[in-house]
Order: sequence, then C-alpha cells, then structure tokens
Amino acid sequence: MRFTVISKNDEKSKYTREYLIQGMKKRGMEEDNIHPEIIISVGGDGTLLGAFHMYQHLLKETMFVGVHTGNLGFYADFHPEEADLLIDLIDRGKFVETEFPLVAVTVNTDDGEERHLALNETTLKMVQGSTLAVDVGIGGKHFEKFRGDGICVSTPSGSTAYNKSLGGALIHPSFRSIQLTEIASINNRVFRTIGSSIILPSHHTLNVYPNKADTHLLTIDHLHFQKNGIRSIEYQVAEETIKFARFRHFPFWHRVRESFISSER
Ligand code: NAP
Ligand code: MN
Repeated sequence: MRFTVISKNDEKSKYTREYLIQGMKKRGMEEDNIHPEIIISVGGDGTLLGAFHMYQHLLKETMFVGVHTGNLGFYADFHPEEADLLIDLIDRGKFVETEFPLVAVTVNTDDGEERHLALNETTLKMVQGSTLAVDVGIGGKHFEKFRGDGICVSTPSGSTAYNKSLGGALIHPSFRSIQLTEIASINNRVFRTIGSSIILPSHHTLNVYPNKADTHLLTIDHLHFQKNGIRSIEYQVAEETIKFARFRHFPFWHRVRESFISSER
C-alpha cells in the first residue's frame, strides 16, 4: 500500500505524522507523496480539506483517512492514540470505502471557463463588502433575484460546516445532492428570494448570473479567489466523489450528536 501523511503544523500533529510514517514503513508499506493509494490527514477537518485539494487529481485511485489532534472532526474521526491500531487495520486491509458527493463549480468569465470541486462548500460574495446581486436559475429556468451578502452551495458532508451556521439543513452524505443557502438576503419588491435553503438532486443544475461585472469573491472550501468578469456560475453534484477508508461504524448522526450536542454516549 502506497501512502502519504499530511499534517497540520503543530507539534502533536507533526509527531503523530512521523509516528505513522515510521510505523507504516516498518510494516513494509511505501511512502509515496506523488501517487499515494491512501492519504492520511493529521490535524482537523481543515487539514483534510487541504489534503483533498492537494490530491484532487487522484480522486479515482486514492482514499482518505482523517486523524484528529484537536476536537473530533467530521472528516477526522481517528484519535492519535489509535495510531498503532490504524496502521494495523490499513496493513491488513480491514477497511471499507465510502464515497461522499462533491460540488462541481463551473465559472464562466470573459477570459473563459474554469471548473473547481469543493468538499465542503463554495460561496460567492463581493470583494468590496457591497452586496451581491445575482439572478438565480434552477434547471435552466429563472427562479429568483437575490441580493445580499452572498450565497453558499454546500455538499452533504459540508452541511455541518458553514451551511449549518447559515441555518441550512444537515444532510446525510448518502444523498447525492447540493444545498443552496442564502447569506443575509435583502427582500424587497425588486429582490425577492425564497428564504429557505434549497436542496437539489444530482440531475438538477443551479445557475447564478451576477448583475454587475465588479470583482467577486469566490471561495472553494478554505480557498479564496478574486474574480473579474464573471458571466455565470453553474453548480452541480460532481461526477467525481471523495473516498474515505472507514475502519469502524461511526454513523453520521452519531458524529453530529458528538460534535454539536454532547460527547457523552
Ligand atoms: P476554520 O476557520 O478553521 O474552520 C472553521 C471551523 O469549521 C473549524 O472548526 C473546522 O474544523 C470546521 N469544519 C470544517 N469542515 C467541517 C465540516 N465538514 N463539518 C463541521 N465542521 C467543519 O477554517 P478551515 O479549517 O480551513 O475550514 C474551512 C471551512 O470553514 C469552510 O469550508 C467553511 O465550511 C468553514 N467556515 C465557516 C464559517 C461559519 O461557520 N460562519 C465561515 C467561514 C468558513 P477544524 O477545527 O477541525 O478544522
Ligand atoms: Mn481549521
């Protein structure tokens, strides 16, 4: 098994990373940062987002595992003290692969088209603190005129992140879907939005058309891009998925409870 270990920059994460690398090599596994079959992320959910973007060109042939050195994460659910167990389970192939949906974002600008994948969410805002004004289309038909701070389009596994702070629903990652949530919409006679978050299935497309050509801020997970001349953005459930190696049963709703309600069992 070819592996790589990515870690956050704190001492505990760096130590855990070294421990895992040495332990896996001892078991005859090969460290390969270019073509890993398994990517272990040590840190938090943010660390896993970084690992995802670093290796998103290998999504078909690789899977991810998250080890948390801080609080329990949604993507990072292994404890560093379980490192030996983790090494053993990987070596013996005692895991199952699970797939989570991603959101595909296609941005059309005056300069051409670019495509991104997000694991948590993508947002659109204005750079200069002014309000974002866009026309929103669903399935090729005009749906609403949005004006406000911005919009957020999230994946099911990202529904517990920014989307949750915006009042969006939590969606089980087995639903191949994307969710549109408003960020502080203004409602008046000109701009009228539905208000509720909207969940689209994989065969539906969401389109956004900026009303002004000013500089927009496009975020993809933790990444931020300033974009000029955006004509439209299309959002869809991506054909690509992220694969996780699962070593034990830890249902999504248990994770939600442990993260947000109580860690007492
Ligand atoms: P960050 O500012 O450290 O992340 C914010 C928090 O979100 C961290 O506690 C992070 O966990 C947690 N998180 C990340 N993905 C999650 C998920 N799928 N479910 C539940 N919690 C999750 O920045 P970051 O670590 O680079 O993460 C980027 C993410 O921050 C974005 O994708 C967005 O979802 C989130 N964010 C949230 C808000 C908000 O809620 N108002 C605003 C901007 C961005 P760790 O500490 O384990 O990394
Ligand atoms: Mn973080």
